[in-house]
Amino acid sequence: MPLHLGVDDTDSVRGMCTTYLATELVRALPELDLVGFPRLVRLNPNIPWKTRGNGAVCLRFARGHGPRFQVGDIDGQPAWAYRRSKPVEASGAMAEAVSAVVERWSRFDDPMTNPAIVLLSASPSPGLYWRAVREIVAKGEALAAIEGLGFTREWKNGRGVIGAAAATAWRPRDRTYEVIAYRHPSRWGTPREIPATAVRGLDPRFPSTFNNYDEEADRSVITPRTPCPVLCGIRGDDPSVLPDALRSLGGELPERWLLFETNQGTDDHVVRNPRAARPWTSVEIAGTVVGEPRTIPGGHVVVPLRWRQTLDVVAYEPSKGFRNIVRALAPGDAVRAIGAVREVPRSLNLEKLEVLGLAPVLEKPENPSCMRCGKRMKSTGAAAPFRCLRCGTRRPRSDAAFVRRPRALAVGWYEPPVGSRRHLSMPLKRLLRRGRERKGVVGRTPNRASPSFSRGADSFCLLPLSANPRADIKEDL
Ligand code: ATP
Repeated sequence: MPLHLGVDDTDSVRGMCTTYLATELVRALPELDLVGFPRLVRLNPNIPWKTRGNGAVCLRFARGHGPRFQVGDIDGQPAWAYRRSKPVEASGAMAEAVSAVVERWSRFDDPMTNPAIVLLSASPSPGLYWRAVREIVAKGEALAAIEGLGFTREWKNGRGVIGAAAATAWRPRDRTYEVIAYRHPSRWGTPREIPATAVRGLDPRFPSTFNNYDEEADRSVITPRTPCPVLCGIRGDDPSVLPDALRSLGGELPERWLLFETNQGTDDHVVRNPRAARPWTSVEIAGTVVGEPRTIPGGHVVVPLRWRQTLDVVAYEPSKGFRNIVRALAPGDAVRAIGAVREVPRSLNLEKLEVLGLAPVLEKPENPSCMRCGKRMKSTGAAAPFRCLRCGTRRPRSDAAFVRRPRALAVGWYEPPVGSRRHLSMPLKRLLRRGRERKGVVGRTPNRASPSFSRGADSFCLLPLSANPRADIKEDL
């Protein structure tokens, strides 16, 4: 088995990126070969202390043999990886070389940055990954999972060891890829120059890519908004097209790039049909709408869902058009909701929604006519009979005719706009293309309820419902 090098918590919102550090690690260990793709592993997106997308990196090293494939370009030289390899022993010297890179590049000035590395001779149990992508893991638990497997090195409070160890424990059941391009250091912090038209062209030209352009907000989402070294990242299912997709962009030329295997877009973070909706987890629940949707101050839309318990499901203001889908729900509708559980008030912050069945919504177009004189009758109270004002005849309320109101919503999946999706959320483009053999998914088509009902939105808000959650929903690259 190759050596597993995990790294986490080196960057800050003010600069750097752990994936850039990965390119520096490849440079720093020229005597070792990469085995398989470099890995970018996203972990529980609901942990309170993440600064951006809760991403950690795992690089696997050994002495490669057999065919090699290109996974990057660093210093104008191709970076190669091998599928087959001969093992090498983890050594203190290697751990020192890695530590030197971490010390050179980590943002120690940020109080939230607590770097750590693990250098392991084997991958720990995958259970650590599944716990870390779905739950809160204590540092002691992560350390216990890697005990005896190799070296660890921590800086400051060393919390990064949780993500670093969990990244090495990932054994993909599902995977996607991301090519990440980096800028020349002289350009860090300056505006990124990538033509929007080229970004819009990615989906049609490279159909296996996803989450490129937010049509609703009319903006590219492949570029981060922080002053970090990343120029852009293109995600997709087929790693072989991603370098071409990157070259197709034109504009600012990257200084280097690296192609990562990732768990982004896999829904790995979602606990399906849990016993309870526990805070700081993401869940998938199916239930019945038990009240009218209401729009609360701030523009957020809330609808109560009866499942094992009654839980408010919320589409926050930044989810824009997606809120119209939630507004169009009615009592009795059957839905599947995927979202993050918020502690106070206990509610589900929607990541995706499937309308499974629509209840009939009846409305009374007019009062009944008088059987004796034909005049339209009047209502005499909410529970009282109808009465004819001309001749005094009465008719019970059950005599009123009701018609089925056409629903401004169709059965199918709906999701937030590209710009407010979580890294781990499986986009419908991917979910429907794969036609997963999961009840309620196969063969479903995403529907637009009407031209004015666009799909999209989201909200991962830790603020009171009335506050603006925009700052909290962004999971930058
Ligand atoms: P990035 O900038 O790479 O996208 P981030 O800045 O949002 O990510 P990190 O810098 O990776 O987040 O910091 C997240 C911290 O949380 C790390 O210290 C990591 O070890 C820790 N962590 C990750 N997952 C869990 C978890 N499930 N439980 C507890 N701690 C976690």
